[in-house]
Amino acid sequence: MSKRTVFQFFHWYSQRGSLWKEVSERAAELAALGISDVWLPPAYKGASGAESVGYDTYDLFDLGEFEQKGSIATKYGERAAFEAACKALVDQGMRPIHDVVLNHKMGADEMESVVVRRVNADDRTQIDEEEVHALAYTRFTFPGREGKYSKFIWDKNCFSGVDLIEKPSETGVFRLMNEYGEGQWNGEVDDELGNFDYLMGADVEFRNKAVYEELKFWGRWFAEQVPVAGFRLDAAKHIPAWFFKDWVGHMRDTIGTELFVVAEYWHPDVATLSNYLELVDKQLKLFDVALHHRFHDASKAGAEFDMRTMFDGSLVSSLPDHSVTLVDNHDTQPLQSLEATVEPWFKPLAYALILLREQGTPCVFYPDLYGAEYIDVAEDGNQQKVEMPTIGCLSRLLEARQQFANGLQVDIFDDPNVVAFIRQGTETEPGCVVVMSNGNAGQKFVDLGPDHSNAAFIDFLGHHSSHVTTDQHGRGEFPTNGGSVSVWVRADR
Ligand code: CA
Repeated sequence: MSKRTVFQFFHWYSQRGSLWKEVSERAAELAALGISDVWLPPAYKGASGAESVGYDTYDLFDLGEFEQKGSIATKYGERAAFEAACKALVDQGMRPIHDVVLNHKMGADEMESVVVRRVNADDRTQIDEEEVHALAYTRFTFPGREGKYSKFIWDKNCFSGVDLIEKPSETGVFRLMNEYGEGQWNGEVDDELGNFDYLMGADVEFRNKAVYEELKFWGRWFAEQVPVAGFRLDAAKHIPAWFFKDWVGHMRDTIGTELFVVAEYWHPDVATLSNYLELVDKQLKLFDVALHHRFHDASKAGAEFDMRTMFDGSLVSSLPDHSVTLVDNHDTQPLQSLEATVEPWFKPLAYALILLREQGTPCVFYPDLYGAEYIDVAEDGNQQKVEMPTIGCLSRLLEARQQFANGLQVDIFDDPNVVAFIRQGTETEPGCVVVMSNGNAGQKFVDLGPDHSNAAFIDFLGHHSSHVTTDQHGRGEFPTNGGSVSVWVRADR
């Protein structure tokens, strides 16, 4: 099996209607690039139907099969196309990783009479004493599905909070009063805003045993519909840690112990992430948010950024086996909610730092390989056109990962701008010398030892046109262009 490399096969603005088909069409080329795992977007019906990116969960059992929310298909296509996409990945030896949004539901079918208490949106631990009788969208009957696959009806006992009530008509954060939790939010969640259980929509009440069993049933059911090699768990900081500890364990018991599970716990502080990993018995990996922010900062600062500090405070430097490293995703791309995109000039450096090093499981973002163009409303209220260019050397970096990212890693992070690392190779696999600069052109003196005496090296990325020849001891000066990266490999191997 190739080295694990995840590909996020979508972005926020993926074209409507065709993604599942595109997965089938591109499966062979991704496999050839060494992609081992493909992260697919949420496959089930969201509240906004065929417009939904998938994070507004409506019906987990509608994989583009039922006329619900104005459409049979999801944004990505109909169920048959989804099944075909998963099969195409498996046929190419790749693993489908599915995006699962269990924190909330949206687009309820009916309102119910509820009792709520108002909550201070800035400090969710401040819950009013006063009980308000109102109506809320908390009843999900899925009329288009008519009980197929599951007869479970979600109601006010299945949720801990809402952000909208009627009669009186108000928006805000409301704690739903029911028999669960004694009026308090779910614990073991992020402590931002006091308690970050509530994010949006109707917030799922995991302490309701029936809900818990339904979500386990859904996981088992889902794995019977399509190949499941893993999950990307959305909004983990808003879900009690004990739930995913149980749920992931249950999925591994019933689907397979090899499941690849990565959770989105969007927090840059490694101590917070480390604490969360302990709570879930280290059964999963987390995205390296801190490293992503370092990339973002570096791309904005240019030569002012000290490259020696690149991995400071990152998850990959402290818990590499639990770190999924990324350069951008559907939330950080321009005009999205966590926008902190990495400038295009820096992406080759960032990708070299996640693809060619020993630590972490790298995740490649669709627009960086295939490009993206879209229009959305910017902060100033005006429409803005965004072009995310293809990162030209990315496919070459993916090949380099498979061919040359082998053996011991030696870092030469001794200069604020020009840094390098060596992969020494193994007896059977070649290594490489990676040199990069966020400032002017430069070079690095590298001692590769007598195995590489009087040897010629070329830049596998083709950024630098010269040859490097080592001396009789295997030493040489390996250059890089300014604001660029070179991957030096033996010309004769
Ligand atoms: Ca929650």
